Amino acid sequence: MEFFDRLTGTALALGAYRAAVIPVSDVETDRSFRTLCEQNVCGNYGKNHMCPPDAGDIDELIGVLRSFKYIFVYQSVGTLEDSFDIEGMAEAAKNHRALMMNIIGECNKIQFKRRLYLGAGGCTLCEVCAKRTNEKCRHPDRAVPSLEAYGVNVSALAKAAGMKYINGQNTVTYFGAVLFDFDDEKL
Ligand code: SF4
Repeated sequence: MEFFDRLTGTALALGAYRAAVIPVSDVETDRSFRTLCEQNVCGNYGKNHMCPPDAGDIDELIGVLRSFKYIFVYQSVGTLEDSFDIEGMAEAAKNHRALMMNIIGECNKIQFKRRLYLGAGGCTLCEVCAKRTNEKCRHPDRAVPSLEAYGVNVSALAKAAGMKYINGQNTVTYFGAVLFDFDDEKL
């Protein structure tokens, strides 16, 4: 579809490594991912308003995800000197965040019927999430929940979208997505 090509073309022009639009029915979700979040490997569990448990009940969030028709998936790939390159990882995360914010900016110009932005890991809109200082979310209308909070199997999502989950040795890959419904006549 021409509109989908326009969306993916925009992401690629903004620096995404790959981008695709697929039906939400092709997205694999798994409520057991919440157990993984509870193990807090990433350190965001209970420390970010957009991550579990604050992001919401897993079944409800999967229900929200399933209420959309399409998902626009994009990925960015950062290069590392080696697997201990912490600075390289931070740089790649920063670049992915910039890409996500640019894609959100472009998508905000489109007259979707509904949209929901999902990101990699916890919301990074603020340097330090207000959850860490026991305050309310500073930007509830702009905060970006994680794909994992919505039970998305990101590895399976990559495959469904024709992408690789891992893009080679000494690289780090991040994903982002936009759930949307649209009205042909308005685009
Ligand atoms: S907008 Fe700020 S306070 Fe709200 S979830 Fe994101 S990082 Fe946390």
